[in-house]
Amino acid sequence: MTETAAPSEAFQPLGNEIRTRVLAALLEEGGPVTLAFSELAEASGADTTAGFAYHLRQLTDHYLRETDDGYTLTDAGIRIARAIESGVYTESVDRDPVGIDDPCPFCDDRALVATATDNTVTVRCQACEAAVLRLPFPPSGHRTHADEAFPGALDRLYRHRVSLMTDGSCPECGGESTARVEYADAEPETESAPENGRAQLRLGCTGCGYTLRCPVTLAVIDHPAVVSFYYGHGEDVRNRPIWNVGREWRETILSDDPWCVRVSAEIDDEQLELLVGRDATVVSVFER
Ligand SMILES: [Zn+2]
Ligand SMILES: [Zn+2]
Repeated sequence: MTETAAPSEAFQPLGNEIRTRVLAALLEEGGPVTLAFSELAEASGADTTAGFAYHLRQLTDHYLRETDDGYTLTDAGIRIARAIESGVYTESVDRDPVGIDDPCPFCDDRALVATATDNTVTVRCQACEAAVLRLPFPPSGHRTHADEAFPGALDRLYRHRVSLMTDGSCPECGGESTARVEYADAEPETESAPENGRAQLRLGCTGCGYTLRCPVTLAVIDHPAVVSFYYGHGEDVRNRPIWNVGREWRETILSDDPWCVRVSAEIDDEQLELLVGRDATVVSVFER
């Protein structure tokens, strides 16, 4: 069974500070709690009991549920309370450049820095000026990770997002996500040809519209064959950051009808080769 409310109807009750304080009070550290009418009234700072009762009525049944012990958050209430707490709709974070101790994927200099403008993180190289990546990072990510830790946190977040979406689940909404290999920066696919085109992976959610684009390599880097190949050479490939998975990686479009991209890495004269199909599945693996 599905019940649906109009977005305008669902969001209208939130335009009031007493009500947003009620939602925040019900999401104390450690998870949602149940609070009595009087406790909630105090936490919200409402002037009169009658006025507060009116505000509470605006929040039930969509965001609050009344139980024998008091009031508790619904699933929608928990989500809104978390969004309020995380600052995702209210805070804009800028961050000064922080050095990253990995070589630049373009010039090899250890000159990468991460900065943030309006919550969005840019990783760029101060030696060759290349912009390596640009990704949104929520305010709570900035608030809870110190300067030296936030680039690593961003890396983990997106590494797992790529992995989740390639596996079919959207990290934003739990919806079905699809993976498609396509030409990078080519609008109509006919513009490029296999010999000069560059492939990228487009991950998209059919539930909420969330999309993510990344090199095909990132989608196969946690494949058992890759993990084992690197482990055999004394390295944990999962430690490679998304801004530089290593200069030993190559991507070649072998065909675009049907799609087949060869993703390969060479270490100590040994080569690992994966053939990747349109939906980012690894079709074949060769080691030589
Ligand atoms: Zn560089
Ligand atoms: Zn989604």
